Amino acid sequence: MQARNLLLLTLLLPTLLLACVQERGGGGDDDNNGGTLNNGGSSQRVDRGDLKVLWDDAADEDQQAFARWLQDRGFFEPLAESLNENVKFPYDISIIHDSCGVENAFYVPDERTIVMCYEMVRFIYSAFANSGFELSEQNLSQATFSTWVYIFFHELGHALVDAYDLPITGREEDAVDDFATVLLIESDLHSAVYDAAIFWYLIDNGMTASRPMLADEHSLNLQRFYSLLCLIAGDDPEWSEYILANFPDMKERLPRCAAEYEQKSSAWMRLLEPWEK
Ligand SMILES: [Zn+2]
Repeated sequence: MQARNLLLLTLLLPTLLLACVQERGGGGDDDNNGGTLNNGGSSQRVDRGDLKVLWDDAADEDQQAFARWLQDRGFFEPLAESLNENVKFPYDISIIHDSCGVENAFYVPDERTIVMCYEMVRFIYSAFANSGFELSEQNLSQATFSTWVYIFFHELGHALVDAYDLPITGREEDAVDDFATVLLIESDLHSAVYDAAIFWYLIDNGMTASRPMLADEHSLNLQRFYSLLCLIAGDDPEWSEYILANFPDMKERLPRCAAEYEQKSSAWMRLLEPWEK
């Protein structure tokens, strides 16, 4: 339950993710596990690319400060290195931090690029800073970085759906939320997912869903919030108790969350297994 120190997490996460991928590997039976998905076993999936981490200049001093802060975490390069060593990519995928003119992060299929906008990390920081939670600077920093990592994995999920031609039914936006959540939870980073959930909660801010919001391909912010809570609780009974105590709206759904977590985690692991090196 204790929130982990994010500085430590930046060092641990690549190792933990790697352990997660290897643990699920099963060893030697790739053809049975993954063969039915894409006309063949993992031996036919050739590693032709890598994740490339790039940092572009920020547009102003404020964004520059966030850019330096993110780079100083030293998270993205070792993560990419670890994934490149252990996962096959059919082509290079760029991860670029940049000023975009919008508070967003997105995947550009034509350019095979994940764009992480400095404006978005500033927006996340402001959301937590103005939350009324009176967070210490350390906790504020941790919540911001956790949410940033969560959003990065969401975008990486889009990139992998594209690169691996993964079959997705339902909304891809929900599926890649599940991808980000499962990866972090399997790395024992429930608190990072919880921070991201709180971010969705904060930016919803009692908003009434408009027709365009309902028409959008994303679930509503509060739905994303509750879905993340469900997956955290579904994996960990202690977290489940905490969530029930703090968010009684979850009472009806919580008993089904373990099955929901199992379904989503096993689905993603089966989809990714054929791409392990
Ligand atoms: Zn998305």
